[in-house]
Amino acid sequence: MKNVLITGAAGFLGSHLCDRFIKEGFYVIGMDNFITGDIRNLEHLQSHPNFEFIEHDVTQHITIEKPLDYILHFASPASPIDYLKIPIQTLKVGSLGTHNLLGLAKVKKARLLIASTSEVYGDPLVHPQNESYYGNVNTIGPRGVYDEAKRFQESITMAYHRFHGLETRIVRIFNTYGPRMRLNDGRVIPAFMGQALRGEDLTVFGDGSQTRSFCYIDDQVEGIYKLLLSDYVYPVNIGNPNEISISDFAEEIIKLTNTSQKAVYKDLPVDDPMQRQPDISLAKKLLNWEPKVSREEGMKKTYAYFKSLSKEDLFKRDHRDFSKHIKP
Ligand code: NAD
Ligand code: UDP
Repeated sequence: MKNVLITGAAGFLGSHLCDRFIKEGFYVIGMDNFITGDIRNLEHLQSHPNFEFIEHDVTQHITIEKPLDYILHFASPASPIDYLKIPIQTLKVGSLGTHNLLGLAKVKKARLLIASTSEVYGDPLVHPQNESYYGNVNTIGPRGVYDEAKRFQESITMAYHRFHGLETRIVRIFNTYGPRMRLNDGRVIPAFMGQALRGEDLTVFGDGSQTRSFCYIDDQVEGIYKLLLSDYVYPVNIGNPNEISISDFAEEIIKLTNTSQKAVYKDLPVDDPMQRQPDISLAKKLLNWEPKVSREEGMKKTYAYFKSLSKEDLFKRDHRDFSKHIKP
């Protein structure tokens, strides 16, 4: 049996990856400090014989007794609201956290896959974005803490690959959605669905002409799994190229949820990328992978999940105290 360590395991993507690796017959060690995650995402695995959980902040030294074959580093705040609230933690988990995991991978002779992002392309001047595009990032803007941490993460990972011969993989994830996203994390899908369920208007930022391309979680996990087992060391985009403007998307959600509310327009956040669509030619060729779940089908499943949450969850605002996670 092969052992895999998954950081960010209590989060949206991490918890689905735990499920997938358990299903594939791995022994899974999940690690998280719950800064943006939720233990309920892992409740169903707690008594599984091939699963263990370690509560730990990956920016601190990591000790694992067992041998490791694979490490997937998914710990990081991922929503603009989260990384604006905890900018230093975001920088640390992408830099110090990644450094710790690279060191661990070296000692264990494990293969490490890191979760990078379409944000390395910033507000892109090339459309759709392919892996050879270097990006257009404002280093000192509010999103810079996330974008630059992820860019540094890619650089240090390649340095460990080149200098130490470490086996590494880099996935550039484009907007991914599905069950277990946090309802109040501020990302557009939980935001719109939560607003529809609470009977509030849907808040479209800017004039809504900015675009995104949404990938369903099962497709994303399949792409990551295939990339991990491939022999390709350079970054690979995984996402769904089906692009839509945010104002059209709000209309789709209004229809899906049958809400009588409407879209209302608010200020556009600073440096909000104007267009985003992955060029997935490389993933198609290399991994024989492409997304299979349509936006209609994926949004239905995601809405069913949000509808199943308690009233308390639905109306819970994010009043968490992050200070306990911030060590001097
Ligand atoms: P999420 O917030 O649901 O999950 C992140 C998890 O990491 C949380 O459980 C959080 O508690 C944990 N974490 C954060 N800092 C930590 C630390 N220092 N030590 C231990 N655990 C820590 O977000 P997500 O959407 O599941 O994103 C997971 C990863 O995928 C992130 O690295 C993110 O940058 C990347 N990503 C996600 C998307 C997306 O659309 N969901 C897009 C691009 C990249
Ligand atoms: N957005 C919006 N209303 C919201 C939340 C987000 O119009 O309540 C917009 C946001 O400005 C961005 C897009 O939706 O243009 C996607 O935002 P998200 O936070 O999901 O992720 P991003 O792709 O910007 O990281």
